[in-house]
Amino acid sequence: MDFEHTARTADLIERVSAFMAEHVLPNEGRFEAEVAGAATGDFSWPPLLDELKLKARAAGLWNLFLPDPEHGAGLSNSEYAPLAEIMGQVYWASEAFNCNAPDTGNMEVLHMYGSSEQQRRWLLPLLAGEIRSAFCMTEPDVASSDATNIATSIRRDGDSYVINGRKWWTTNGMHPKLGILIVMGVTNPDGPRHARHGQILVEPQTPGVRIVRHLPVFGYHEAPAGHVEVSFTDVRVPADQLILGEGRGFEIAQGRLGPGRVHHCMRSIGAAERALEQMCRRLLSRQAFGGAIADQSIWQQRVAECRTQIDMCRLLVYRTAWLMDRGGNKAARTEIASIKVAVPRMLQHVVDTAIQAFGGAGVTDDFGLAALYARARTMRLVDGPDEVHNRDIARLEFRKYKPPRSAGS
Ligand SMILES: Cc1cc2nc3c(=O)[nH]c(=O)nc-3n(C[C@H](O)[C@H](O)[C@H](O)COP(=O)(O)OP(=O)(O)OC[C@H]3O[C@@H](n4cnc5c(N)ncnc54)[C@H](O)[C@@H]3O)c2cc1C
Repeated sequence: MDFEHTARTADLIERVSAFMAEHVLPNEGRFEAEVAGAATGDFSWPPLLDELKLKARAAGLWNLFLPDPEHGAGLSNSEYAPLAEIMGQVYWASEAFNCNAPDTGNMEVLHMYGSSEQQRRWLLPLLAGEIRSAFCMTEPDVASSDATNIATSIRRDGDSYVINGRKWWTTNGMHPKLGILIVMGVTNPDGPRHARHGQILVEPQTPGVRIVRHLPVFGYHEAPAGHVEVSFTDVRVPADQLILGEGRGFEIAQGRLGPGRVHHCMRSIGAAERALEQMCRRLLSRQAFGGAIADQSIWQQRVAECRTQIDMCRLLVYRTAWLMDRGGNKAARTEIASIKVAVPRMLQHVVDTAIQAFGGAGVTDDFGLAALYARARTMRLVDGPDEVHNRDIARLEFRKYKPPRSAGS
C-alpha cells in the first residue's frame, strides 16, 4: 500500500488549503450572520456562498469529488480523500466547491444511472451548482435502518407513477435552491425483498409534495440545507422520471454508498483535526492551580489519545479508498462499514474532549464546538446506525470461519 500523494493531489491540497485560508476561514462569522434567520424560519440563501462558488469554480476547484474527468476532476477515491479532509474543517465549506452531501451522492446516482434526459434536466444544473437535491429514503413510520422496510408506494398508472408516503430527515429540504428529490419507494410489492423498491425523481413543486416541518438537530438549524419531514399525497410524475427501472432501488443505493462514506469520513477527520488544534491552543493558554492546564498529565493523555485516534482513522479511510480504487466497492465492503462506525465515534470523542478542555466555553456557540458535537452525534445515525454497519462487518467475519455446507444440506 502506498499512500504517497500523486503530484496532482499534492497540487490540489495546496490550492484547496490556500482557498480555505483566504476565503473560508476568515468568513465563518459572515456565514453564521447570513444564515442566522433560520432560527425564525428564514432559510434564505447566504450571498457569501455564491461569491465563494464563483471563486472556487474560477480557480478550478469545482466538482472535485466526481471521478469522471469530463464533468468532474477525474480523481480517484484516494486522490480526493485528502481534499475532503481539508474542506471538512468548516462544515459548510464543501458546498463552496460543489462537493457537499447529499448533492454529491445524488449527482453520482444521476451520473451512473440517469438517462440522458434525466442528466440534462437535473445532473447538469447540479454540476453547475445552480440547484440542490435531496435523497428521500428514511420514513418516520418504519425502522429505516432496514431499508427493505421502506413503505412509500410508487405505483404505475398509465404513463405516470403515483407516489404516496411520508419521509423525514430529508437533508437539503429547506434549501432555497432545492430543485430535485430522489424518492425511494415500493414499485414491485410482490418482488424479492431487495427487488421491491425503485428510485424516482420528483420536483419539489409537483402537486401533492408538502414540506410538513423543518427538523432541527439538537436545536441547530443547519442552514441553508436544513432537514425536513415531507409528505407525498397522490404525487403524479411522468414514468420516465424513474431511475434505471422498477425494483432496482437497492442496486442504485449500493452504487452510491462507497465514495460517499469516504467523503463523509474524511470531512469528519478534518473537523476532528480542527477540534484537536482548538483544544491544544486552549489548554496551553489557560492557567489553573499554578501552571498551564496543558501540563496536567491527564490532558497529555487525552490529547495523545485524540491524536492517535485521528491518525488511525485516517489510515483506515486511506486504506478503504485504496481498496476501492483497485477493486471497486465490493472489494472494500468490510472497510467501508468499518470507517462508517469508527470515524463518527472518533469525532464524537474528540469534540467531547475539546468541550471538556474549554470548560463552560465549550458548550456556548462562541467556539463552534457545541454545534460540531451535535453534528458528530448525528453522524452515528446518518447513512445507517453503527449497529447495522457492525452487523455487516460481523457477518463478513463469521463467513470466513463457517464450516462448509455438507452436500445435500
Ligand atoms: C441529521 C440527519 C440527516 C439525515 N439525512 C438523511 C437524508 O438526507 N435522507 C434520508 O433518507 N435519511 C436521512 N437521515 C436518516 C438516517 O439515515 C436514519 O435516521 C438512519 O438510517 C436510521 O434509521 P431510523 O431513524 O429509522 O432508525 P431505526 O431504524 O428506527 O433504528 C433505531 C435504532 O435501532 C437500533 N438498530 C437498528 N438496527 C439494528 C440492528 N440490526 N442491531 C442492533 N440495533 C439496531 C439502532 O440503535 C438504531 O439507531 C438523516 C438522519 C439525521 C439524523
